[in-house]
Amino acid sequence: MLSVFDLFKIGIGPSSSHTVGPMAAAKRFVDQLLLAHQLQQVARIKVDLYGSLALTGEGHGTVGATLLGLEGNTPRGIDPEIVGVRLNQLQQADAQLNLSGTHCIAFNFTQDLNLQKHMFLKQHPNGLKFRAFNADGQVIANEVYFSIGGGFVVSEAEFGQIRTDEEMVPFPFRTAEDLLLHCRAQKKSIAQIVMANELATQSESAVREQLLEIANVMQQCIHNGCTREGELPGVYHVKRRAPAIFRKMVGMQLTGRADFMLWPMIYAFAVSEENASGGRIVTAPTNGAAGIIPAVLQYYRNFTPTANDAGIVDFLLTAAAIGMLYKMNASISGAEVGCQGEVGVACSMAAGAYCAVLGGTLEQVENAAEIGMEHHLGLTCDPVGGLVQIPCVERNGVAAEKAIKIAQLALMENGEHKVSLDKVIETMYRTGMDMHNIYKETSLGGLALTVGIPAC
Ligand code: SF4
Repeated sequence: MLSVFDLFKIGIGPSSSHTVGPMAAAKRFVDQLLLAHQLQQVARIKVDLYGSLALTGEGHGTVGATLLGLEGNTPRGIDPEIVGVRLNQLQQADAQLNLSGTHCIAFNFTQDLNLQKHMFLKQHPNGLKFRAFNADGQVIANEVYFSIGGGFVVSEAEFGQIRTDEEMVPFPFRTAEDLLLHCRAQKKSIAQIVMANELATQSESAVREQLLEIANVMQQCIHNGCTREGELPGVYHVKRRAPAIFRKMVGMQLTGRADFMLWPMIYAFAVSEENASGGRIVTAPTNGAAGIIPAVLQYYRNFTPTANDAGIVDFLLTAAAIGMLYKMNASISGAEVGCQGEVGVACSMAAGAYCAVLGGTLEQVENAAEIGMEHHLGLTCDPVGGLVQIPCVERNGVAAEKAIKIAQLALMENGEHKVSLDKVIETMYRTGMDMHNIYKETSLGGLALTVGIPAC
């Protein structure tokens, strides 16, 4: 059974599948070398990035994340400021790669790191292969990993295996129907069911403490994004918009002309611009869509008179339950199912969670989560220049506003609906399987193609 902490992970931008996952995979490879007492024998490392990781990896920070993972860094622990500096050092002629932070080897950037742009591994579009050689040039270890979205990483052997630890939690569920059955039978909310499952491995106070930490990182990210001026990285020189709009909104509020519905848009812009700059981010459930849940949560904190820590915890637990359903039955990877699997899923999670903390019934919460996805079906992933900027930043803002209105709509009705959450999840997955590869985080179609790369 997935945990709430599988859905919400503190890490770095700009991409969960292309930055967080590759760093975690690289760290896993060197950890295995360490465990097998092979690390000191390594004289050379070669890395191959395949498919979507190679095609959009430069804009998504995959190369730096992978190399820094080999040096023993984790997405949560690393200082986002050092990534660019260290990548620059590793591109120099006499570079040394410090494996696991303890064993230095020579590193030739152009020969040891290969972007296999025209090769997709058959299992998944986001593949990485690591090979370690000894001083005689013999391979002493090799492994293939897949970054399957939301920062999740599996090895080739683990790929496609279903986790069999359902018996470890009191209320295992795989579908929305299962989840709602537990809720009705136990007379518990969705948040209470997820909390009960978390208690199988840790105390309630530990769960609450970690969730409030996650909420605080989200809030800090909004603050950073609203105060950091400048441009996002890359050849498009995209201006950060959140600070200027934030100032205008504050000014309007002081004169009593506030449009409260623009706040979630600004909060989401702030997080997405921090993400695009490689800043400290909570994957929610991915980095590309990381602005939506913090924006709706912040709107709840600022504009709901009864908002409190218990509500924040319930919001995150409910959102996580909805995200688990997508992760278990479809995908949360833009490279697998397009942006419907990232922004669509985050909107669905936020709409359901917001509805729940405003007092929605189980039926209303399910309805909100379903509507949040239904109107993102077919949404393609076409990031311009392989950067998580256009259309990603605005898309987060629009989805955050939608999530709030969807929750309010669901609360106006009795929860009766024709399309169930399970049905819309199945539809999203089928639509993703039918979607052409050029719309799945390859930057070969859509806006990425029509906007193109500017002449320098
Ligand atoms: S278009 Fe959507 S899925 Fe693709 S990188 Fe942007 S936010 Fe992620």
